Amino acid sequence: MARNFQTDLADPNLFVVTMELVPKAESIGRSIDTVLQFADDALNDGRLSAVSITDNPGGNPSLSPDVLGKEILDRGMDVIVHFTYRDMNRAGIESRALQLRRMGMKNILALTGDYSGKGFGGQPAPVFDLDSVSLLCFFHMMNKKAENNGISDDFFTGCAVSPFKWTEPECYLQYYKLCKKISAGADFIITQLGYDARKFQKLIQVLKKNNIRTPALASIYLLTPRSARVMNSGKVPGAVVSKELFKQISKEWEADKRKGYFSAVERAAKLAAVCKGLGYRGIHIGGVHRNFKTVKRIIDLLADIENDWEYFLNEFTYSQPDHFYMFTKEDDSPLSVNRLTPKKNKAYSFQKCHFKSLYHMHQVFFDFDSPNAPLYNKICNLLDQSKIGRHSINIFEEGFKKILLNCQQCGDCCIQHLGFLCPESQCPKHMRNGSCGGSRDGKCEVNPEKYCVWYRAYQRFALIDKTDDMAKDYVPPRMWELNKTSSWINFHLGINHQTKSGDAAFRYNFERSI
Ligand code: SF4
Ligand code: SF4
Repeated sequence: MARNFQTDLADPNLFVVTMELVPKAESIGRSIDTVLQFADDALNDGRLSAVSITDNPGGNPSLSPDVLGKEILDRGMDVIVHFTYRDMNRAGIESRALQLRRMGMKNILALTGDYSGKGFGGQPAPVFDLDSVSLLCFFHMMNKKAENNGISDDFFTGCAVSPFKWTEPECYLQYYKLCKKISAGADFIITQLGYDARKFQKLIQVLKKNNIRTPALASIYLLTPRSARVMNSGKVPGAVVSKELFKQISKEWEADKRKGYFSAVERAAKLAAVCKGLGYRGIHIGGVHRNFKTVKRIIDLLADIENDWEYFLNEFTYSQPDHFYMFTKEDDSPLSVNRLTPKKNKAYSFQKCHFKSLYHMHQVFFDFDSPNAPLYNKICNLLDQSKIGRHSINIFEEGFKKILLNCQQCGDCCIQHLGFLCPESQCPKHMRNGSCGGSRDGKCEVNPEKYCVWYRAYQRFALIDKTDDMAKDYVPPRMWELNKTSSWINFHLGINHQTKSGDAAFRYNFERSI
């Protein structure tokens, strides 16, 4: 193999370049030939460390990145496989991971994935059995297992983050989740798409502030009027293109398509130079679908202009006045200083009342350190021994929690990690460890008429000044064996995820700390 992604990332003197390939819903044909041609050209060029292959982008079926990745790997080009868990439960995930290891594909980009799109006969079932933090824990567990069996060939897992959110809760939520992903074993980070240098800088500042040395790659996308329009309208979850930038790109292409194309290449190279200057360890190029010449042009131009990166900063300031920045700005400089902007965003009125009453109830009834805990344990033991006891508590709990939380009776309650909101009924992706990257202006990616449940959880924790705790608690995957049982009994008998006796809590014990 010409280059090795993992070895290249470990070399501090190398600025790593990777690119994204997007297979379509065909197993043979022009689109597949184009993808393979890209991989061959990248191999011949010799400057790319790997190509990454998307996994059913947009939630729509396409050729598996595993099979295409194997073909590319056999041709000599290193591959990063996008691994989403939207379409598979944890048994399927483990089987796929074993298959990938068998095929020699170890670079994994662990992602939540867009919500389910379109499939045969209608919308596919959205599975979302694990979340991206649990997925990283799973790969970490696979590595440990292999190590115990004397296999040293580890998965090299990466994660995604979006630095381009514009509300305070979403900005913080992205970084809280990133902290969990790093704790869970992420070896590299790839950003979402955006065109704001200060937001790119923010990720580097957060990493430095938390002493995280995980290398970050910046996504650099070749923007055309078409892709800019789609991204501006919010149809690509997590990608941000402002109205101003979209107008500018449309103007550039309207006057002369060729000039428009070269402006797009120049913008990509300049943004890559800025990211290199800011401290990113590499770039991940996307949006190039026709031929490899465009990638070559971007890399060549980057080499010519990289030392002038500070002159380009003012070209990447597509923010709005009400956008939140985690770090403040002091003068006319386009970058931030290392001082945090004060947090302001809190829940009020009904949310405040709802949160506070559930918070206090939880302190009284669900605290293992409370003097009443042994009594609750006895009562639950007693109730659990008879069918009538279990049935009665189930009816009572269901009625109570249905009204307050729209409870779905998963039996493995984790509302205390979400500011006393239910991820099963209020998050279409059932996220237990932080928001997905798809929220926009606080609204849910899947139901844009509603606020993201994690956005609301942040506002609730702000009431007791505990938002930063959202970066710490790892919530293991839901225990499906407890479905439709009483979460109260499960809690007090120590059989759900929250107790040390819970299997999942042991299995995914964190070893890295931030
Ligand atoms: S028991 Fe499960 S479904 Fe019910 S509120 Fe708790 S997390 Fe939601
Ligand atoms: S509620 Fe939030 S985390 Fe859940 S799908 Fe919507 S945007 Fe994503």
